[in-house]
Amino acid sequence: MHPFVHESLPGRVVFAAGAVNSLPAEVDRFTQPRVLLIAAEAERHLAARVETLLGDRVVAVWRTVRQHVPTDLADDAAAAAAAAAANLLLSVGGGSTTGLAKAVALRTGLPVLAVPTTYAGSEMTPIWGQTDKGTKTTGRDTAVLPRVVVYDPELTTGLPTAVTAASGMNALAHCVEAAYAPGASPVTTAQAMTAVEVLTDALPRAVDHPDDLDARSDALYGAFLAGSVLATAGISVHHHVCHVLGGLFDLPHAQMHAIVLPHATWAVAAADPEALRALERVLGADVPARLFDLTARLGLPTALAAIGMQDADIDIAVPRVLAATAGDPTPLTPATARRLLHAAVGGTRPDKSR
Ligand code: NAD
Repeated sequence: MHPFVHESLPGRVVFAAGAVNSLPAEVDRFTQPRVLLIAAEAERHLAARVETLLGDRVVAVWRTVRQHVPTDLADDAAAAAAAAAANLLLSVGGGSTTGLAKAVALRTGLPVLAVPTTYAGSEMTPIWGQTDKGTKTTGRDTAVLPRVVVYDPELTTGLPTAVTAASGMNALAHCVEAAYAPGASPVTTAQAMTAVEVLTDALPRAVDHPDDLDARSDALYGAFLAGSVLATAGISVHHHVCHVLGGLFDLPHAQMHAIVLPHATWAVAAADPEALRALERVLGADVPARLFDLTARLGLPTALAAIGMQDADIDIAVPRVLAATAGDPTPLTPATARRLLHAAVGGTRPDKSR
C-alpha cells in the first residue's frame, strides 16, 4: 500500500428512478427556500415537471444556457437571482446548465441543488469554469459544489444517442485519468474502477436502447462515481491535452474527450506502463485499443479530423501540449506528444507495437 492523502467532499446524493418527486422535500431542507430554477430552453419539458412539483417555492426561472458559461451570462443570471431575492439555485440539465449554476454560486454565495440530465459529472465537483472573450478560466471553490444532487434516470431516457455516447465517454475519461492522476488514492481508484466497469457495460446498452431504464440507471450511477473521482483524484495528461485542443481549435467538448482518450492513455503507458495496471485488471491487457473500440462501438467519431482539427494544426498544438502536461506524473516527450496528436487527428487505432 502506497502512502496517500484522501479528502472527502461534503454533499448529499439522492439516487432513484422517480427521485425528482423528492425535490419538494429536498428543497424544504433549506430554510424558507426561494428557488431560482436554471434550466435550458431545450430542457423545458424536464424542468416543467420540477416547476409543477415545487409550486411557489420557485420565485424565478432562468432559461438561457450556453456552452462554456460566458461571464456576461453568469453576471445576468446572478442579477436575476438577486432581483428575485432567491436563496437557492436549482439546476436541471447537463454540464452546461450545472456550470452556469456554479458560476452564479461563485458570484452570490448561494447554495446549489443540482439535477443532472447527462453524464458529464460536474454536479459532484467544486470545479467551476467560465469564458470571457474566448478565454476559458477554471478554478476550485467549495462554494460552488452542489449541496444536494438528485439523480433521476427517468430524466435521461430522452437524451439523444450522440450526447449519451459523448458525455458517457467524458465520464469514462474522468475514471481512466483517476487511475494515475496526482490526487489518486486507494479510495478513488476503487470508485473509478467500479465506474469503468459500470460505464463500459451500460453505455452500449443505453445507446442501443435509449429507453432502457436499467441501462440508464447504470450509466447515471457510473457518471456519479466519475464526477466524484474527478473531484478528488484530479486530472492528468488526457484532460490537459483536451484543454489545449479545446482552447486552440474550439472543438466540441465531449466528442473531443472521447477521441483523445485512447491516445492519451497510450502516451501515459509509453511514459509509465505501471500507470495502467488498475485499468488493465478491468479492461484487459490493451487498454488504449479497448477505449478506441468502445468509442467506435458507441457510434462516435474516432478522428479529430472529423470534428475540426487538421494535420496542419499539430505543429501549433505540440508546444502547448508539452507545456500543459509538464507537471503531470507522466509528462510527455516531444516525440510522444506528436505521435499522440497524429493518431488522434487521423483516428488510428492505438497499437501496443506502435
Ligand atoms: P451540455 O450540458 O451542453 O448538454 C449537451 C446537449 O444535451 C444540449 O443540447 C442539451 O440541451 C441536451 N440535453 C441535456 N440533457 C438532456 C436530456 N435529459 N434530454 C435531452 N437532451 C438533453 O453537455 P454536457 O456534456 O452535459 O456538459 C458539458 C459541459 O460540462 C462542458 O462545458 C464541460 O466543460 C462541463 N463539465 C464540467 C465539469 C466540472 O467539474 N466543472 C465536469 C464535466 C464537464
